[in-house]
Amino acid sequence: MSTQPSATLTVLGSTNMDLVAYVAAAPRRGETVTGREFRTVPGGKGANQAVAAARAGGAVTMIGAVGDDDFGSRLRVALAASGVEVSGLRTVPGASGTAHIVVDDEGGNAIVVVPGANGTVTSLTAEDEDRIAASGALLLQLELPMAGVLAGARAAHARGIRTVLTPAPAQPLPDELLALTDLLVPNEHEAAALTGCRDPQKAAAALLERVPEVVITLGAAGSLHAARGAEPVTVPALRVRAVDTTAAGDTFVGALAVAVGEGRETRQALAWASAAAALSVQRHGAGASMPDRTEIEALYVRNNR
Ligand code: ADP
Repeated sequence: MSTQPSATLTVLGSTNMDLVAYVAAAPRRGETVTGREFRTVPGGKGANQAVAAARAGGAVTMIGAVGDDDFGSRLRVALAASGVEVSGLRTVPGASGTAHIVVDDEGGNAIVVVPGANGTVTSLTAEDEDRIAASGALLLQLELPMAGVLAGARAAHARGIRTVLTPAPAQPLPDELLALTDLLVPNEHEAAALTGCRDPQKAAAALLERVPEVVITLGAAGSLHAARGAEPVTVPALRVRAVDTTAAGDTFVGALAVAVGEGRETRQALAWASAAAALSVQRHGAGASMPDRTEIEALYVRNNR
């Protein structure tokens, strides 16, 4: 039996219902097209990271908000079913967050995100601060109002809790947020947007002037770790047939936080997160595509002996 210490994580982030329409070609302005299929899928970057980390074996608490509509109760149930503790997920009057997604036959997509309840998370309660204080790390993304993200980062920092920031969707970051970030995990596009450097090695070097540790995810090319005073480490992605890369980055971050929380060293932690992400890209959807710990461990062991 495994005697690893388990990772205790808090996620402060968004919860959305993804409303996905599959069409041959997306409608132009003023046009109506008939779609082939429609799915409602629980999503949101915060919830996706929480589910990924819980499936990977972490003890995960989610802080955020859903609306008092039907989607809100479904989103809460879906998170709880994945093993995420949801007492920090408030229910507020009005609509839950939604993402309206049109996927065309070439795999291209167009997305409208309406924040809804997520937009109310601009501060933390005393209970939220206690949840953060009791965890090994706080995972943050940028789908909540910046005031809420900053409140979380400040609360964690003040208590010596590690902060892991996924700077997505890409936007300019306040200096204060970067100053409160222990580990920044952009994809290569976000890293380029933040630094102006297309080359990931150069972008990582530029980011290290602002945060102590960076992991840049590089899609099918893997991931790159850089920390002040350490040699950069590159870990390849697993060679798999990707059918849907939605939430690959969120799966990677959730699994990475679990691996680091369990004390795996950098290269092993990146390889473990890569195994989790490789499993997710071989399946459709976001939450439904996320692997559990047994699958991740089996693939990791197969690839690293
Ligand atoms: P995001 O989903 O945020 O854009 P990436 O596309 O960089 O993030 O993917 C995150 C991680 O998922 C990568 O570092 C890699 O480990 C894994 N991954 C993504 N695409 C593939 C792929 N086609 N094959 C195998 N692994 C992949």
